[in-house]
Amino acid sequence: MSSIIQLLPDHVANQIAAGEVVQRPASVVKELLENAVDAKATDIKLIIKDAGKSLVQVIDNGVGMTVTDARLCFARHATSKIRQAEDLFSLGTKGFRGEALASIAAIAHMEMKTKQDQDELGTHIVIEGSKFVSQEVAVLPKGTSFAVKNLFFNIPARRNFLKSDTVEFRHVMDEFQRVALAHPNIHFSFYHNGSELYNLPAAGYRQRIVGIMSGKTNEKLVPVSEETEIINVQGFVCKPEFAKKNRGEQFFFVNDRFIKSGYLHHAVMAAYDGLLKDGSQPSYFLYLQVPPNTIDINIHPTKTEIKFDDEQALYAILRASIKHSLGQFNVAPVLDFDRDANLDTPYHYKDVEAETPTIQVDGTFNPFTDDKTNQHYAKSSSGGSYSSGSSSSSGSSYSGSSYSGYSKRVEPTASWESLYVGLDTENPETIESSPFTFENEEVTSSLFNDDEIEQSTQKTYQIHKKYIVSPIKSGMVIVDQQRAHQRILYEQFLLNMTVNQASSQQLLFPLDLFYSATEMKLIEELKPSLETTGFVFDESKTDHIVVSGIPVNITESEVSLVIEQLLSDLQDGIPASSYSQNDTIAKSMAKSLAVKTGSYLTEKEQDNLVNGLFACKDPNISPFQKPTFITMRVEDIDKKFAL
Ligand code: ADP
Ligand code: MG
Repeated sequence: MSSIIQLLPDHVANQIAAGEVVQRPASVVKELLENAVDAKATDIKLIIKDAGKSLVQVIDNGVGMTVTDARLCFARHATSKIRQAEDLFSLGTKGFRGEALASIAAIAHMEMKTKQDQDELGTHIVIEGSKFVSQEVAVLPKGTSFAVKNLFFNIPARRNFLKSDTVEFRHVMDEFQRVALAHPNIHFSFYHNGSELYNLPAAGYRQRIVGIMSGKTNEKLVPVSEETEIINVQGFVCKPEFAKKNRGEQFFFVNDRFIKSGYLHHAVMAAYDGLLKDGSQPSYFLYLQVPPNTIDINIHPTKTEIKFDDEQALYAILRASIKHSLGQFNVAPVLDFDRDANLDTPYHYKDVEAETPTIQVDGTFNPFTDDKTNQHYAKSSSGGSYSSGSSSSSGSSYSGSSYSGYSKRVEPTASWESLYVGLDTENPETIESSPFTFENEEVTSSLFNDDEIEQSTQKTYQIHKKYIVSPIKSGMVIVDQQRAHQRILYEQFLLNMTVNQASSQQLLFPLDLFYSATEMKLIEELKPSLETTGFVFDESKTDHIVVSGIPVNITESEVSLVIEQLLSDLQDGIPASSYSQNDTIAKSMAKSLAVKTGSYLTEKEQDNLVNGLFACKDPNISPFQKPTFITMRVEDIDKKFAL
């Protein structure tokens, strides 16, 4: 038989890649504005027509491009911003993927004019659906202009998929505001269908915020300013009495990049604790600067999410500095303004932990009780063995872990996040921090007695980023990290689903996730079960769901992954009984969320993983019936040496 695999032609590959980068006119606006900022422009003009559907144009006075670069910038993975992978850790630019222009050019009619200061003449290029139509020398001012017309002209399905002008315009406006707020030192103007919407001269933060929001904003703002070794926080929060019903005016910028973070949002809300009327939302405009090597912005194609090395410390600093401002400006009449000396620089983890509210843990509590014969969680949910979990005095104990700071109602958890504790700053591989803190290391395990675990400073070792080895009195235990974590998550999800509704974290911006009609039908059927895991859905449309809350132990970027995994696991239909339905969902979510083989775990994470596993009801096997650990007795080892 002849071979059937072929490399896709570039224009097809670009068109496919475009699907990720360009969802709507606002995506084009974002990419072009960011390119202009990266080009060190001091004046940027945005012109759109029909909410960007017929035209998005960005004109800048930045550095421009040489003739060669002008041609090359449309190639995929063509970027002047990074040269090697390490550069990702010292990123000072918005762009770095080198995909935007290639993607946009694949699905629109594009015209570019560019000239560098030192050149006499500039370059004028027309490119349509990845095909160069013309390239000419032209008399041009310094800088670059990109005009993008007829978006999705060659993908009618995508074009039809665009929302009304009102909706698309709102998205464009959001992107414009984010970039303009992030860069007050740049003059921005914005025109829609010929009329000027904004003309924002270069200014400071306060003036820019007022320019974007409205004149009245000024009196509502309270400055926030805190400089520490690991983060510099500047910006403004609004006085509590001006808090709004909606969350429209809440902005975080990290190193001049707009980001979304439910976690940092929570820190702000914690600072307002007791000052807000029920459900009202303070506006905030917070500019955080952190060393580029302590964040990872490379986890999402649209780059609005970020991973911090040091999330717990940031949380504490942010909360403390906002609390401080609200107190200092006397906006909080009775504020317990006990500024902890530990929270002044330098910030240490221990101090931070001490600041975090904690919950007492009943280390001996096991939500899965002794009732070994009862294999069916669902059956017992009617009030039998597990109800002790929800009614235990603190309601917080499970697998020896406790967490705090996130949810109002504290639920049992053995989440993956709870594995991350006391992050090691020296270790850039550390994946993610969390507000969850293990307090009680002497977890009662069904396998070992406390006194069986040998006392030494380091109790676990990771080998091959796959197994965790830990000495026990009788020898050693070797744990498969992925399977162990699947087990922990699986039991946790099942427990939440069958016993008590899990708490959820509200998303700052609800997620729109699009699915086919068949998938939508499946999702509708699954909704009630998903809600018990902590998902919150706003009313769904025919082609997409709106997710406004997610379980505390998953991150926003994992949501679509989890749902896609679920849909694929349920291809053969949804099981009839609610027990097997819950079981399938818990398995599927455990599968997508568990730490994978190949992930580095810090010592603390390893420790928590091992403790979490042995606090499980069924620590021996993964949800997919594979062994999670093996033990080796000293005698076994002795035998090997005797050979
Ligand atoms: P990225 O921004 O990730 O590098 P893009 O596809 O957005 O990728 O842009 C590719 C390259 O084109 C950039 O790295 C930059 O060198 C150049 N470029 C794009 N826009 C501009 C601009 N407005 N002014 C000068 N150079 C630009
Ligand atoms: Mg770019």
